[in-house]
Amino acid sequence: MNNNRYDPLFSPIQIGPVTAPNRFYQVPHCNGMGHLRPQSLAAMRAVKAEGGWGVVCTEMMEIHPTSDVTPYIEGRLWDDSDIAKLQLMTDAVHGFGSLAGIELAHSGSSTGNLYSRETPLAPSHTACYDNLPFSARAMDKKDIAQFRDWHRQAALRSKQAGFDIVYVYLGHDLTLLQHFLSPRHNRRTDNYGGSLKNRVRLLQEVLQDTKEAVGDRCAVACRFAVDELLANGGLRCNDEAKEVVQMLAEIPDLWDVNLSDWSNDSQTSRFSEEGYQEPFTQFVKQQTGKPVVGVGRYTSPDRMLSLVKTGMLDMIGAARPSIADPFLPNKIREGRFDDIRECIGCNICVSGDQNSSPIRCTQNPTMGEEWRSGWHPEKIPTRQSNDNILVVGAGPAGMELAMSLGKRGYQVSLAEASNCLGGRINQESALPGLSAWKRVADYREQWLRRAPNVALYFDSHLTAQDILSFAIPHVYLATGASWRRDGISRATPFSVPGIDCANLFTPDDIFAGNMPRGRVTLFDEDNFYMGGVIAEKLIEAGCEVNFVTNNALVSPWTVYTMEQHRIQARLIELGVAIYTQNNLASVTADQSVISCIYTGKTTALANNALMLVTEKLPNEALYLTLEAERLKGSEQWLESGIRTLENVGDCKAPGTIANAVYSGHLQARLQDQKPAKGLRFKRE
Ligand code: ADP
Ligand code: SF4
Repeated sequence: MNNNRYDPLFSPIQIGPVTAPNRFYQVPHCNGMGHLRPQSLAAMRAVKAEGGWGVVCTEMMEIHPTSDVTPYIEGRLWDDSDIAKLQLMTDAVHGFGSLAGIELAHSGSSTGNLYSRETPLAPSHTACYDNLPFSARAMDKKDIAQFRDWHRQAALRSKQAGFDIVYVYLGHDLTLLQHFLSPRHNRRTDNYGGSLKNRVRLLQEVLQDTKEAVGDRCAVACRFAVDELLANGGLRCNDEAKEVVQMLAEIPDLWDVNLSDWSNDSQTSRFSEEGYQEPFTQFVKQQTGKPVVGVGRYTSPDRMLSLVKTGMLDMIGAARPSIADPFLPNKIREGRFDDIRECIGCNICVSGDQNSSPIRCTQNPTMGEEWRSGWHPEKIPTRQSNDNILVVGAGPAGMELAMSLGKRGYQVSLAEASNCLGGRINQESALPGLSAWKRVADYREQWLRRAPNVALYFDSHLTAQDILSFAIPHVYLATGASWRRDGISRATPFSVPGIDCANLFTPDDIFAGNMPRGRVTLFDEDNFYMGGVIAEKLIEAGCEVNFVTNNALVSPWTVYTMEQHRIQARLIELGVAIYTQNNLASVTADQSVISCIYTGKTTALANNALMLVTEKLPNEALYLTLEAERLKGSEQWLESGIRTLENVGDCKAPGTIANAVYSGHLQARLQDQKPAKGLRFKRE
């Protein structure tokens, strides 16, 4: 069904010499596959094109060995030998009628060239990023001429690889061209430094070089971060950034505008709403007649429509919404709004890139599995038997499993102890800043409630006896996990002396509405978001909080979701007393003694309660009871006819929500499959 209301989102648009079929633009995004896993990459990008994204771009593309971003895995276009790999992607994207874009990038001093061992380059002498113990060299005129030539060569190779849109990229505080523009980085006194006109010179030259080199057949896009959100010395949208757009307005064929650095551009939903970039980027459309693309973690079709209709943007840019749902455009076109798998803004996708591993997504378990596992986000093989299946527990793992089995056509019973679907999602999405996470349950619930072949049973706390009596041949236990209360953690492997005397709480108590009072010492050894979020919740409830962590940073794993600095700032602003690099040494009813991990020096913290955010243990009692029956070969077991007994998600091994969803999805795909002879997935 065509929904005419949204037609403006599906009208073609001319970008220089090429025409995009619609207004959906997958902006460049990293993925941890890059030059090392080109087949995985091509298959992932192809799925986006198949799902209706009119333009599908690469991640940042190193144009030369002086821009080697090792250990991160990005695209690489150093010489002709890289062309064939990239052609895999352009062919795949063109196969679905979409345009392919390539984001040419030189990383300047933001990288140390750890693989190539080339000397890093910068507008002025400067130390490299990431605390690297070496410096980038100030480029002289010869270096500048060489850089222009490398960029030109990379543009020509891009054209040869079949790309339709070639980027000139200055964004995210990661690129040489942005460094030239920025007085924070550019301290030159020649005609490439000083005045804005001089600092913009190299960008203007490279834009013109690129147009001359490939402009006959390729559109040239300029990706520009219009605000750095810095108090001092940063580019601001109402100041120099505006002048830059005015100066170069009609040179590129397209403006792709965003914020810098990357953590500002890809903020999590905990810290920003859909469309949070708009106040910064909205000026661009008034300065240029060329098409403008902007991002904003857009998942609402009406919001997208309004942006295009009001002329704020010409094309809806998306990285994360296209990861969570590669078929977002097609679903809007077909009016299938309930089927949209909305991004929850958790940045698990970013953590892949940050850890140099392939991209994963909380909402879309097929992301990154397109080539190696042959998974498609919208298609799943039909059932291979008429067997009934029981799924116990309706958290993210159980819901995904029941839904995917249901999509395969199996008759599924999903039994849940509580009166609602969602499990940990309901609990966690009620914590400060995490309401968007509810979408993980909402997307699956709307499907499950419509499915004629899935029966939902609420208030059904199943026992082993119940399950044995059902005589359903395939039983999956997705009964989740519980926070440890015994004081054992990575940092305290033998627990904590006095733990039995403490007035003890865990996040499970908070979920059950059992709040501590007064001053609470929170010991975080989980190290992801939970400790920080619980601290916020306690402050909201009127507690005072001592936050103790063994690490140097609060919530250290959130560095990979690019929100650590915001979390620490928030806790400081909320008045949380933070004790880093301290372990929990001993506790009594009214105090916690902590010890410095380096010196052992102890500090006694008076408190009314101790909150442990340490580790989770699987709720596996049900599984173990049934497994014991199986091992015994008891009469009841044999009579039950159970052939499959598996635990999935947190009940198997507690982890992220993304892991739980993946676990459920994998199990659904494995149903009635013969065990793989070798590896379950292909390798490049
Ligand atoms: P996961 O992240 O692995 O999906 P969750 O903890 O989110 O795990 O969800 C587990 C769900 O299982 C919870 O909603 C819980 O109420 C339910 N559950 C646990 N034990 C039983 C049981 N014996 N019978 C039915 N439901 C159960
Ligand atoms: Fe969105 Fe999270 Fe998926 Fe990234 S991992 S696309 S932020 S849902």
